Amino acid sequence: MPWYLAPSLAQLRAEVNARWPHRSKASDGTIGDRAHSARTSDHNPNSRGSVNAIDITAKGIDTRALIDAAKKHPSVRYIIFNRQIMNRDIGGFKPRRYSGSNPHTAHVHISIYQRASAENDRRSWGIAAATAPQPDPKPKASKAPPFPLPKGHWYGPESRDPRNHSGYWKRDRDGIRTLQQRLKDRGWRISVDGRYGPDTRDVVRKFQREKRLRVDGGVGAETWAALWEAPIT
Ligand SMILES: [Zn+2]
Repeated sequence: MPWYLAPSLAQLRAEVNARWPHRSKASDGTIGDRAHSARTSDHNPNSRGSVNAIDITAKGIDTRALIDAAKKHPSVRYIIFNRQIMNRDIGGFKPRRYSGSNPHTAHVHISIYQRASAENDRRSWGIAAATAPQPDPKPKASKAPPFPLPKGHWYGPESRDPRNHSGYWKRDRDGIRTLQQRLKDRGWRISVDGRYGPDTRDVVRKFQREKRLRVDGGVGAETWAALWEAPIT
């Protein structure tokens, strides 16, 4: 089914882009991925084809100003940021601990009500002078850099398997840093140290679970590609 970002959220995004033109978009997202479609998520198009959630990258914007503006907009139902969820219908956006697998430290998630009136409310969010909402671009997959290892090899925690690359050898560390940085840009909490330790393995497992990949905690060609090509949600 063709889908579109709810016009109220398209208006929000246009204002965010106008106020912070140099902001990072590394963790931006609108439509959900296959993992989301298996469960209820506002990132999935509803029966009208409307996507009622948006993720806005925290880097390069004033997240406080964004969240304050979102709380004032009548379409907004809840906001997730920095391990906290704020729901209009629970204590009037009273912050509560959010314990989902993605801590939402790299992006602010904003969900609106599942109602046509909330979707079509194009009033200004008071973030920037009202600008014409921009048409939603097709969700574009960013191109993955080529997988650095030979076919059938993978990055993983230290093991005796000669196909496994843990960062024990210096030559493997750039590739590991690249995948760790990409996970970080996508919003996961991970240190970019070029060593494939248990922390990296655990984050990769969560990522694989979310993206419905084989959950082995290692990064082979398939997981490597998904790190760039799977939508960020
Ligand atoms: Zn989200």
